[in-house]
Amino acid sequence: MSRFFSEKFNSLDPYVPGEQPRDMKYVKLNTNESPYPPSPEVLASMSPENAGKLRLYPDPESAALKDAIGKAEGLGRENVYVANGSDDILNFAFMAFSKPGGKVYFPDLTYGFYPVFAALHGLEAVEIPVKEDFSIDPADYFGADGMVVIANPNAPTGRILQLDDIRKILENNRDNVVLIDEAYVDFGAESAVCLTGEYDNLLVCRTYSKSRSMAGARLGYALGDKALIADLETLKFSTNPYNINILTQLAGIAAMESEEYYRDRCLAIQATREKTAAELIKRGFTVIPSMANFIFVKSDRISGEDLYRGLRERGVLIRHFDKERIKDYNRVTIGTDEEMDIFLCCVDEMLKGASK
Ligand SMILES: *Cc1c(COP(=O)(O)O)cnc(C)c1O
Repeated sequence: MSRFFSEKFNSLDPYVPGEQPRDMKYVKLNTNESPYPPSPEVLASMSPENAGKLRLYPDPESAALKDAIGKAEGLGRENVYVANGSDDILNFAFMAFSKPGGKVYFPDLTYGFYPVFAALHGLEAVEIPVKEDFSIDPADYFGADGMVVIANPNAPTGRILQLDDIRKILENNRDNVVLIDEAYVDFGAESAVCLTGEYDNLLVCRTYSKSRSMAGARLGYALGDKALIADLETLKFSTNPYNINILTQLAGIAAMESEEYYRDRCLAIQATREKTAAELIKRGFTVIPSMANFIFVKSDRISGEDLYRGLRERGVLIRHFDKERIKDYNRVTIGTDEEMDIFLCCVDEMLKGASK
């Protein structure tokens, strides 16, 4: 830390992304990327002709991209906000929709970036424990005194909240923004987007990083009442008006026009998920029921840490969290069938020698 760094940020503890090692080729099941490539239309949008457009600034309104997203979601352009990944949207939402020094509510087990954004914006994080089975009790969020943030499906557990429960949380927080982070909604959960017309306090966050195979493009979007969207635009035009580069705007449009391609890949991932879960259960693992492109698992024969380390030595990366409550678990991204076979093979090899 330099002596110039603002004391405001002295105690900031930055988010630690999952490792992206370059030393060798791993079976990469640690950061919830898609194992499948972007659609052919997306690849075609990265043409030399389109690259030539880099000379000019991109459309600061991202109008064509918003229209493509709006069309796919059944909403108007004014209900869509786009940003460099949904992390960017979360940052602005924490900044925009909390009182200075106020509170923000989210589960104790959830996306590790929420506490970081709370700290960054000087907010008090109220971390509400999930139940023993990792499910969320909607009543815990009723009458909150600040913004409520819930990932649905939740990470790293994969558990979902039903739409009825989200509705109850909205009903009981009329004066708070309720942000539903739907990074993983395309893998079998029900979206809350259909409630945005009814509740002006609902903001739904989506990303191209997981189900649309575009983590490297950095593109996310938010859907909600046009006044909420306008607030996010105010922050954007006060920081970085040209936030989405021209190639990413074009790729984002192409992806929205490849619904069938992505639907098939999401179905394939769900089938692989169920197959992998069944195989692990056969081997005595506890597998939390997941509606995401990952599973949260623990073995009674090998510790979470040992499983993580042993797999890494064998060239398979999964995600281990040090947090006390979940240290026996690992989060395993669903790859292709072939990748999951390699993963299971390595697990078998380790279990043979394991005695916990
Ligand atoms: C991956 C993830 C994000 C971030 O997605 P980007 O669009 O890549 O920034 C946000 N929320 C959750 C719950 C995630 O898992």
